[in-house]
Amino acid sequence: MCTHACATVCNGANSCLPKGSIQQRSIQRVRRPALLLTCEHGGNRVPPAFRTLFTDHRALLASHRGYDRGALPCARALASMMRAPLIYSEVTRLLVDLNRSPGNSGLFSDISRQLPKATRDDILTYHYFPHRQRIERWIAARIRARRAVLHVAVHSFTPVLAGMVRSAELGLLYDPRRDWETELCRHWQQALRETAPTLRVRRNYPYRGISDGLTRHLRTLFPLDAYAGIELEINQAVLTKTLRTLTTAIASALRTAS
Ligand SMILES: [Zn+2]
Repeated sequence: MCTHACATVCNGANSCLPKGSIQQRSIQRVRRPALLLTCEHGGNRVPPAFRTLFTDHRALLASHRGYDRGALPCARALASMMRAPLIYSEVTRLLVDLNRSPGNSGLFSDISRQLPKATRDDILTYHYFPHRQRIERWIAARIRARRAVLHVAVHSFTPVLAGMVRSAELGLLYDPRRDWETELCRHWQQALRETAPTLRVRRNYPYRGISDGLTRHLRTLFPLDAYAGIELEINQAVLTKTLRTLTTAIASALRTAS
């Protein structure tokens, strides 16, 4: 268990912030925030050491349970358009879910959960914590330089889940108790309505922004006025058809909103 300010598990990697460092400094957001894009479910790659584990699960790997189809190409396009860094993983979330916290029952899938604890710990060491630590270090460096950070984690969702048709093309997930995130998503949604009126954009849909995940973890590490963590959820039905048009609309609206 981490002994630093975040009060969450950090695996002793010291990527969280010591008490009294930048937690207590105020950040003046006079400049546009530094934008960071991430993609936690970018691929369905299985590391060689675990190939035999997935031999009978090829269909599952190719499904929305294996990865977020279309999310990584979208994140790459957004990063290019917005000249922002992109930190991503292409390892399947069926091995370990980078958008779940240690201790969450969804961290490992039904397939990887059966592995011995020592192997699961190795998976965390080699395929989980490095992703989080890269992100934490990037954000911490900007905040130390008194720059606020807007983090957009790019995900996609399946158009139909358990027989329910999802009623949006885009979802913006945030914590409604945080003013910056709330205002930003309102403005982003409004700007998208003007630039791309055919897109249905919903806030905190199809999931809630306060659910366990990377952004919720990062909110515990950084000051309110220095970090905003938004999950951009994109309906896979629209991603496959109009990637360039879609990402142009998203990027242009985000520029207006931020
Ligand atoms: Zn995802």
